[in-house]
Amino acid sequence: MTALPAPPAGSLAEALARRIAVEGPISVAAFMAEALGHPRFGYYMKQDPFGAAGDFVTAPEVSQMFGELIGLWCADTWQRMGAPSPVRLVELGPGRGTLMADALRAAAVLAPFRAALRVHLVETSPALRERQRATLAGVDVAWHDRLEEVPDGPALVVANEFFDALPVRQIQRTPQGWSERLVDRAEDGGTGFRFVLEAFGSAGASLVPSTLRDAPPGSVIEVSPASQAVARVLAARLAAQGGAALLIDYGYVGPAVGDTLQAVRRHTHVPVLEAPGDADLTAHVDFAALAVAAQAAGAAAFGPVTQGALLERLGIAARAAALKRTATPRQAADVDAALARLIGTDQMGTLFKALALAAPGVGAPAGFEDQTHQQRTAP
Ligand code: SAH
Repeated sequence: MTALPAPPAGSLAEALARRIAVEGPISVAAFMAEALGHPRFGYYMKQDPFGAAGDFVTAPEVSQMFGELIGLWCADTWQRMGAPSPVRLVELGPGRGTLMADALRAAAVLAPFRAALRVHLVETSPALRERQRATLAGVDVAWHDRLEEVPDGPALVVANEFFDALPVRQIQRTPQGWSERLVDRAEDGGTGFRFVLEAFGSAGASLVPSTLRDAPPGSVIEVSPASQAVARVLAARLAAQGGAALLIDYGYVGPAVGDTLQAVRRHTHVPVLEAPGDADLTAHVDFAALAVAAQAAGAAAFGPVTQGALLERLGIAARAAALKRTATPRQAADVDAALARLIGTDQMGTLFKALALAAPGVGAPAGFEDQTHQQRTAP
């Protein structure tokens, strides 16, 4: 009698439990990468998670003003670059394609810019590529799995809520020293998970910035090697071939202590290890780490500035007023609500920040005047 082959794993939790049974506990980064990007069960791979009915709402889904102002930022930056033609307009993690659609509509006011544009979307999710294809019907678009695959040439690169989806490692201070947090199977051996600490002597200890080495026991720091790698590739490209990038996300200016990993399902926070593949998993972005990685790869870095400050400098108040001129009272109230949501200090205005990168010589892009990124030195 021959043994039956093991049945295919029916869920991500099952696949992860098997992997851990074979390999031992995995890093938080590995867990996050699988939860979001597993080819079959990954959160982004199987569905469209956006919008009021989905798990969360991003700035481009709040209002068309967001993508429009970014389109105008691109047009203005293109002129500062000397108006190269063609120019690649690249978006990392475009979601539903809403930002790009709004940006292209706004960019059309500068006809030579619109004519010079070649649109490139970097997106790993087949479900979201389909969604982008529908949103951008009629636009000539090329899709890529990675930034490295975008053909050469001067580029304007936009990323909104992309870096927060890239995996982070977590290192925790214990009374014995710093130790990497790992994900193990629950003690009952089922398909549940729990955090454990790597034994003393953890390689993760080398990732702790010198300014934080003496943080009190219990402190957690996060490092995103994947985000820094993207920043380096992006910066090297801009430096060698010309262009600029606008990176918007929620985050902080590190180094800093803090466990920011969170899971959201249908607008509600859930425990981070509870529903891999069925909840969005994100971590706050360390903008200083991105800026430092980009500067080391040859690009200039500006900011970060808060999303509220950036959108105000780009003229969101005037745009809102223009939309309201032709609006019904109900629509006008919606514009006001969206404005408050995007720039309000109690909403997305302060927690969300924008970092700009540019080839040397382009100078500070609109909204980033006098905002050259200064690396903070150890006290
Ligand atoms: N920018 C959009 C979507 C943000 S969600 C908005 O603001 O609404 C994150 C997006 O990044 C999704 O489109 C997701 O599929 C994509 N993504 C996540 N990890 C990725 C990776 N490693 N490479 C390319 N795209 C990725």
